[in-house]
Amino acid sequence: MPSPATLTIDLNALAANFHALQAAGGAPVHPVVKADSYGLGAAACAKRLMTEGARTFFVARASEGTALRAALGDEPVIYVLDGCAAGRAARLRAANLRPVINTAAQLAEWNEAGGGACGLQIDTGMNRLGFRPDDAPEAFEGLALVLSHLACADDPAEPMNARQRDAFAEVSKRYPGTVRSFANSGGAFLGPDYAFDALRPGICMYGGGPEGRPDARIAPVATLTAEVLQVRDVPAGETVGYSRGFQAGGPTRIATCATGYADGVLRAYSPKGLAFAGGALRPIVGRVSMDVCAVDVTGLDVAVGDRVELFGPNRMLDDAAAAAGTIAYELLTSITARVPRIYVG
Ligand SMILES: *Cc1c(COP(=O)(O)O)cnc(C)c1O
Repeated sequence: MPSPATLTIDLNALAANFHALQAAGGAPVHPVVKADSYGLGAAACAKRLMTEGARTFFVARASEGTALRAALGDEPVIYVLDGCAAGRAARLRAANLRPVINTAAQLAEWNEAGGGACGLQIDTGMNRLGFRPDDAPEAFEGLALVLSHLACADDPAEPMNARQRDAFAEVSKRYPGTVRSFANSGGAFLGPDYAFDALRPGICMYGGGPEGRPDARIAPVATLTAEVLQVRDVPAGETVGYSRGFQAGGPTRIATCATGYADGVLRAYSPKGLAFAGGALRPIVGRVSMDVCAVDVTGLDVAVGDRVELFGPNRMLDDAAAAAGTIAYELLTSITARVPRIYVG
């Protein structure tokens, strides 16, 4: 019997998105599997991506890299985006992880520990991580990949995209023979001059659109469903949930569903959110509570034990995120460990 709330991950859809990105960008995909593949499970996702041809992965933290190395074995290359903080080099080396060097101090730390293959991040305008082009080091022993990150790739009309691309093209000339990686998910769709040598997508592999809205080129991957625990008829004028968050304007049928903010179904899912229940998209009403939420199923044939979909093929992830005032990335990474991940495909 399925758990009350489950996150189903369609690995065939993941694979299809991986290939769609590669085709769109015209360069190999080095998947970003940080934050446990945006909550979907890095070991399972990366293993499938390896069978699709991926050989280089990015994580954010050394701890993620260590876990991924244990899951994948020795073959793939794993880069750690947050680099090599003081005291971390030995741990990275022990797990055969490559830091993405962001600062002179990180470079010194890495070299003092013996150096070896690593990446280098150049900040071309985001002002987050990496060397400014003027401060970037000369090519050095062990440098295997140089990257930069777009600030506005989800907006093709943003002029900063081309400025960053041109800055990256210029600075990467200093590192001949080094793999150049520039485009994230959005960047993969900006055109061939954004691709360089390797794409670095995350969200589009996991089912989010490149522009923060559903996109026909990207298949849904993750489906969050919850079981209906109880169905009740609420008379006109009565209220539902904490703080009387919803008042029935007329006779209303409420399905109380087994998912709440302890599963990562954020309180912000109401009052604008919708769930797919009984074959229709219906409002999530009242306050989302820790373990349950209420869906207005008036007029629908919904029974105890049925499942409602919070996002998935019938409620696109980007639409669910927009209704909650956030982005697909945050919706996915919010799903907590209480929700079992079920893999299909
Ligand atoms: C998270 C991240 C990515 C992936 O971004 P998406 O928008 O999910 O495709 C790529 N590069 C860096 C440096 C990142 O931090």
